[in-house]
Amino acid sequence: MNILSIIDKKKNNEILTQEEINYFVQGYTNDEIPDYQMSSLLMAIRINGMSDDETFYLTEAMINSGEVIDLSEIEGFKVDKHSTGGVGDKVTLVVTPILASLGIPVAKFSGRGLGITGGTLDKLESIRGFNFELTREQFVDNVKKHNIAIAGQTGNIVPADKKLYALRDVTGTVDSIPLIASSIMSKKIASGADGIVLDVKYGLGAFMKTKKDAKVLAEKMKAIGENFNRKIDYVLSDMNNPLGKYIGNKVEVVEAYEVLSLRMRNSSEDLLEECVTVAVKMHQLATGLSERTSLELVGNAISSGVAKLKLIEMIESQGGDIKDINIKDTDYVVEVVSDTSGIVEVISALKVGEVAVTLGAGRLTKDAKLDYDAGIELVVKHGEEVKSGDVIARLYSNREITSDSINKIKVAYEIV
Ligand code: URA
Repeated sequence: MNILSIIDKKKNNEILTQEEINYFVQGYTNDEIPDYQMSSLLMAIRINGMSDDETFYLTEAMINSGEVIDLSEIEGFKVDKHSTGGVGDKVTLVVTPILASLGIPVAKFSGRGLGITGGTLDKLESIRGFNFELTREQFVDNVKKHNIAIAGQTGNIVPADKKLYALRDVTGTVDSIPLIASSIMSKKIASGADGIVLDVKYGLGAFMKTKKDAKVLAEKMKAIGENFNRKIDYVLSDMNNPLGKYIGNKVEVVEAYEVLSLRMRNSSEDLLEECVTVAVKMHQLATGLSERTSLELVGNAISSGVAKLKLIEMIESQGGDIKDINIKDTDYVVEVVSDTSGIVEVISALKVGEVAVTLGAGRLTKDAKLDYDAGIELVVKHGEEVKSGDVIARLYSNREITSDSINKIKVAYEIV
């Protein structure tokens, strides 16, 4: 077996064997296969796809490239969630304390954001003192004690994906359903949860542009997870518009806190609705209860305030300063004013995400430093009415805010 014959096979749209898949995953992870050959194979996969069996073998080979976390010493059904990435997506910050407050253990590994997609770790790191670099022992102790811990994914989990994802990012091979499904599911399965709810986004600000494609991806990921004896469910959610009212890091923590305090200033209803949907599915996976009962319990956890107290407990147990959860005045704050009157039909999540990166809230390269206080407030959301001269958005940054950014936000608002 050699890499050239594997590339040829995939180029000719033939099915790869498990041995061939193991060979290239191991070879690339161990630096025996160079980037240029792996790029060629990835492009052949991107163009010709993979069968369900190939995708399963790829996922398995990626899992076997590193450490698999064993959470069996934590009692109960450990539940996790995964979002395929979005703009303003702070769902994890809201749903994990809801589940933990209902007695369901949440042992969560989260990642950083890249490009327009935010990452839970960056958001939590914006809280003064918050520590996500937990040892295995601290992580397990926290889940046992508080029912919740959120840690950074260690370098030992699926090292194959780290290398492959970085290469896909620069070779136009990210948007491939088998590659996305195996990348996400290998990390989720290696992270040890018993059940996972997948929040698969579609629309302008998502990998999957249509709901139909999002469903294909979701079904593939569900099949892979179930093959590994995990319980899987999914939601398909709209990412044409940003989720909620704030996009950034600290500002998103503030919004999550406000949602759990039922103190959202107007316009976070889409966020609350999505969080409830995801939380109910997670609760059902863990308990097997009916949707109606889970909905009632999730609703009570929010309205009684116990979920908010759990969020505070989680942050404090990981060293975070709860008094730091407030929106800071940055060096530059600009109000964006509408030039027209009408109804906001859509706010392009893609454009808003790109401006957030420019303001310092997101990164274009893995090592870029973030401005945790930078971000965007959508004063007016889609479906709302606006008059010429009204403030539609506020931009926060410690860098000078350019007229390009302001104009891009105006263009992001499609007012009819
Ligand atoms: N997120 C991942 O972890 N992997 C992908 O391939 C796409 C999104």
